[in-house]
Amino acid sequence: MNIIKYLRAKKMIKEIDKKVKVKYSKRLECEPDNAKVYIGFKNNKMENDTFRDYVNELTRNCKYNDLLLGILHELGHIYTIEQVSESEYLQDIDLLYALRKEDLISAEQMNYFYLRLPLESVATRWAIEFTELNPQFCKYWNKKLS
Ligand SMILES: [Zn+2]
Repeated sequence: MNIIKYLRAKKMIKEIDKKVKVKYSKRLECEPDNAKVYIGFKNNKMENDTFRDYVNELTRNCKYNDLLLGILHELGHIYTIEQVSESEYLQDIDLLYALRKEDLISAEQMNYFYLRLPLESVATRWAIEFTELNPQFCKYWNKKLS
């Protein structure tokens, strides 16, 4: 049941940081400037797979599920937003969408490059570091969210 998973996800986030606001939505998203995370369960297999590939590229044997890592990635945006240039990010996004629209890159390629944009990459790295620093916490919530 998604609503139970949502409530668990909210509890997990509040245990990490009480100040983060959590809302139910269609998909996982975040508003870093407002410290707000949206929890959603609309999955895209290709996006999940390319994200998982990137996580495996950054770390060995990451045993946590996509939801846990996805939530930590969104939280990561909140804590890393000041390290990266948002305007550069928006320019890069525009370029990726333009290339995709012209069919010069595939949806997979677009996602590949998207995940490696500095703003996305630092959030994923934050998530991985969090799992490494808090293995007990992550093991517990990984079970609750699987
Ligand atoms: Zn992201």
